[in-house]
Amino acid sequence: MTLGENLHVCPKCEYHFTIDASARLNAFLDPDTFEEFDADLQPADVLNFQGPKAYAQSLEKYQKLTGMPDAVISGTGQVRGPPDRPSP
Ligand SMILES: [Zn+2]
Repeated sequence: MTLGENLHVCPKCEYHFTIDASARLNAFLDPDTFEEFDADLQPADVLNFQGPKAYAQSLEKYQKLTGMPDAVISGTGQVRGPPDRPSP
């Protein structure tokens, strides 16, 4: 069994490796059922924050590093198919 097949948990010692949000969604949801909401949503710097590093600079840095526009992914998907419904 590969590490990926074991959801990035070591089959010998059960260490949980860090995975990104996309890998987590793929592991958790039924294949091809995820529909992302607001994929083009962008963070706003309404305070024009200036710390040790300006917020706008940090945003740009992490957007490039992650390839994501924001830190949040939201959407809908299925887990083990549609819910069972009671018989009429
Ligand atoms: Zn291990």
